[in-house]
Amino acid sequence: MLNIVVFGAPGSGKGTQSELMIKKFGLDHVSTGDVLRAEIKAQSEVGKLAETYISKGELVPDEVIIKVLANVLDAKKNSKGVIFDGFPRTIPQAKALKTMLNERGTDISVMLDLKVDDEELIDRLLKRGQTSGRSDDNLETIKSRLDVYHNYTSPLIDHYKAEGKHKEKKGMGTIEEIFARIEKAIEEVK
Ligand code: ADP
Repeated sequence: MLNIVVFGAPGSGKGTQSELMIKKFGLDHVSTGDVLRAEIKAQSEVGKLAETYISKGELVPDEVIIKVLANVLDAKKNSKGVIFDGFPRTIPQAKALKTMLNERGTDISVMLDLKVDDEELIDRLLKRGQTSGRSDDNLETIKSRLDVYHNYTSPLIDHYKAEGKHKEKKGMGTIEEIFARIEKAIEEVK
């Protein structure tokens, strides 16, 4: 299986690039943000709990998100590979993901780290906020999300470097230019 962690700060283009990867490589896509937003829409217990964190720009607790992920992963058993978008976001999540994949006889192939300046991230998210209807695409929450990224999520870069899985890619430029960089990185691990 080709299992790819798409990594980067909020607004770095993980979702956009994931869509292109799905089309090109025939992979499945797991976006924990999308899963949580669907739970919120359905007003499930998990959704109601998640909303209290998401609207403040905080992370949903590890044990909640890990359970959600395990369920989603079981539904994708016969897949050629999975793109993990927005997960893992903490070291415990990365460890849990490794265990879950190993138990299913597979592992992470590569972590693609999209690098975008904070200034551009804020611009992109504010622009998205004009049409996304997302409760977290406003300036105050965006700033919290960037803080959370720098404090809790960016340590995953060293974690995956230590496993020899980290590949950094420039996430600025046109969508096509960025995808060309990603394609090259995937061809190298395929
Ligand atoms: P973005 O990457 O633009 O912030 P996401 O859709 O990936 O957007 O995530 C939105 C919010 O959902 C996050 O700010 C967080 O509250 C919650 N969330 C998503 N994935 C996770 C995760 N793996 N762990 C904890 N919280 C998560």
